[in-house]
Amino acid sequence: MINIRQEVPLLLYNTFGVPATASVFVESDDATELADFVRSLPDPSSAFLLGGGSNVLFVSNRCEMVIHPVIKGIEVTAETDDDVWVRAGAGEAWDDFVSWCVTRNYAGVENLSYIPGTVGASPIQNIGAYGTEAKETIETVEAVEKTTGQTVIFNNQQCQFDYRDSFFKKNKGKYLITAVQFKLSKRFEPNVKYADLKTELVRNTHMTMENIRQAVISIRSQKLPDPAELGNAGSFFKNPTINTAKSREICELDPQAPLYPVSHEYWKMSAAWLIQHCGWKGTQDGNVGAHKRQPIVIVNYGGATGKEVLDFAQKIIDSVDRKFGIRLEPEINVV
Ligand SMILES: Cc1cc2nc3c(=O)[nH]c(=O)nc-3n(C[C@H](O)[C@H](O)[C@H](O)COP(=O)(O)OP(=O)(O)OC[C@H]3O[C@@H](n4cnc5c(N)ncnc54)[C@H](O)[C@@H]3O)c2cc1C
Repeated sequence: MINIRQEVPLLLYNTFGVPATASVFVESDDATELADFVRSLPDPSSAFLLGGGSNVLFVSNRCEMVIHPVIKGIEVTAETDDDVWVRAGAGEAWDDFVSWCVTRNYAGVENLSYIPGTVGASPIQNIGAYGTEAKETIETVEAVEKTTGQTVIFNNQQCQFDYRDSFFKKNKGKYLITAVQFKLSKRFEPNVKYADLKTELVRNTHMTMENIRQAVISIRSQKLPDPAELGNAGSFFKNPTINTAKSREICELDPQAPLYPVSHEYWKMSAAWLIQHCGWKGTQDGNVGAHKRQPIVIVNYGGATGKEVLDFAQKIIDSVDRKFGIRLEPEINVV
């Protein structure tokens, strides 16, 4: 059922905890109703789609229209002896979906435990953690094209998934995702490539999906600030890709610098390392700062505005550029 409200404060709808107001706030748990609603708008492109607000920064203190899909439901749509296809509504909390899968021994998303946000946003930046990305299990994405109100189904290839990127992120705001279908495995094979996860699991002799989930939750709880206590949106920046010449310069400074090959000529560099080596770790500037354990996470110490957060991020970008000649790009969505 559609619910339309005026002048809704967004403070509690974003994990950064910055103030903003939606002139019109639209909520619905029905995909057809939302499609009809966007079709009726004179300018559907201006309506902002909001999930859990864990990857957005409201810089402008007013949004004309916010659409908040709360479409629920998780169901098995097909299965074989080896695999199972599960369709989840966009408004399901991502971690509830992961828990649902782990409880039933459906493997593939357990390493993505405890990531905040909704199922509907998971394809947007192809969420990833601990050696797994959502693209490995997403089979199809069901969406409404905002300008026409038409339903479109994207297969995995059409989603153009990449590191923290997708067709939807490149075409920001054009599609309202209503449901995602995942292909999960009934044959569990643990993915413990990630060093921290391997260490955490050493204590467990019997490796189960639930053990992996609990290990991921334990690492994340120790490493990342809880948005309920300290406003943040996880990693503010993407890990940059650098060429071999630049990677050699970095290695001369620190032979242990975290660099991962992505192709013959290119390397993925840790943004956290770059930020830390510019002296930002644990710093505070007014109401904002770089987290003491994870400097890639910008935090709101209380009362910050989106503009203050963005200005602080810009200082980090400039200092990393001056010191290393590498320009960091935000991972989060600035609105
Ligand atoms: C503590 C913390 C840890 C995090 N860790 C990780 C991590 O390990 N890995 C990772 O990848 N991310 C991580 N994130 C970022 C965030 O959780 C994910 O990007 C998540 O997918 C965002 O979901 P959301 O529902 O909150 O999206 P929002 O923040 O509400 O929106 C994000 C973007 O998606 C769009 N969008 C949202 N819903 C829809 C929809 N139904 N249809 C179309 N567009 C939509 C929005 O318009 C916006 O552009 C973390 C965030 C926090 C706060």
